[in-house]
Amino acid sequence: MAPSHVLKCCQKVLAWVPVAFIALVVAWSYYAYVVELCVFTISSTAEKVVYLVVFHLSFVMFVWSYGKTIFTSPATPSNEFCLSKADKEQYEKEERPESQQEILRRAAKDLPIYTTTASRAIRYCDRCQLIKPDRCHHCSACDVCVLKMDHHCPWVNNCVGFSNYKFFLLFLMYSLLYCLFVAATVLQYFIKFWTLCRRKAAENCPKNELPDTHAKFHVLFLFFVAAMFFISILSLFSYHCWLVGKNRSTIETFRAPTFRNGPDKNGFSLGCSKNLREVFGDEKKYWLLPIFTSLGDGCNFPTRLVIMDPEQLAVSSQNEPAKSSVANQSFPTRPLSESQNRLLSSDCQWVETGPEEENVKSGSGFVCCGVSFFSFFFFSFFFFFPFLRPRKALGIGWSGVEENMFHGIKSAC
Ligand SMILES: [Zn+2]
Ligand SMILES: [Zn+2]
Repeated sequence: MAPSHVLKCCQKVLAWVPVAFIALVVAWSYYAYVVELCVFTISSTAEKVVYLVVFHLSFVMFVWSYGKTIFTSPATPSNEFCLSKADKEQYEKEERPESQQEILRRAAKDLPIYTTTASRAIRYCDRCQLIKPDRCHHCSACDVCVLKMDHHCPWVNNCVGFSNYKFFLLFLMYSLLYCLFVAATVLQYFIKFWTLCRRKAAENCPKNELPDTHAKFHVLFLFFVAAMFFISILSLFSYHCWLVGKNRSTIETFRAPTFRNGPDKNGFSLGCSKNLREVFGDEKKYWLLPIFTSLGDGCNFPTRLVIMDPEQLAVSSQNEPAKSSVANQSFPTRPLSESQNRLLSSDCQWVETGPEEENVKSGSGFVCCGVSFFSFFFFSFFFFFPFLRPRKALGIGWSGVEENMFHGIKSAC
């Protein structure tokens, strides 16, 4: 077996490590909540039933949306964006960038493309040998061009893009609800287990009715893990809510798409309500379910230009909207002619695409996950810091909790 092949296999296996880590944490949290808390700790039957029903509802929605985010393949451009055999041969023979751009320009004249590179060149992927549709980017991890690519997420080992962006948002939302519910319901048992009262003999402390078992170890960490994941995911979820409202991908936040009038960060924004519908669809009853309902085909996107450009408006209204009934903002389903696509008929100098896009992609993915990592470790530090300090330096308040915590860990281990 060739070394490069072995290396690729190792990379593929390693890419699943973060997913396996999340799966293990989720499996442990299920065991800790259902068995250790609900079965062994809570004595009230009514409380048990209510907790278990709500817990399983949030758990199912969370796992369902997480699974859909992981296992939905990224959407790739249709064949119409590939160069014909003759064009491909001619493109490869040409050495001058200007001539290559001329070939691309000719091939793209019937395609619904409104954006170019920052240097006004047709966006072409040498790796996949196709003209990139608007908002499409090549993912070096997946090694394909991904429609409306947002970022490559290591936590789902998949590209987040047109095909699974709704699932990704629901995954963040349900994981927040899951963590919030777990933390909120565990909190009272966490306090009961670890307050000073717990150290005293049971006869001196009538409120202390909890069993002194290893359940307290699970309850303690369940609260910490749920609270820290909640805070970490909250920042990421808030950021993506803002992106949806602006109809912007993470990549487009770092580099605004270039239209014929120049770069425009809000070029695809149609207003908050329509932006929301573009991701979640027209039927509100499906919004909270991880079922694909996003509007369009991932290759054509209505732009703000439609307001300023009567030609795009005319073409859009002639064509049947794809699943969309949003007034005046339909998705063109047929390509625009050259005369209708002013972007392609402009007299700009076409320049070869640089490696700048690749840098943007890796940067956006890094920042996106970096925000979560940073939040996680930042809040982990502040959660655990009081426990790590010498007890005498703590003064009143935390000292009892600290002593109980270490005592609990010691006995549990
Ligand atoms: Zn590509
Ligand atoms: Zn990817």
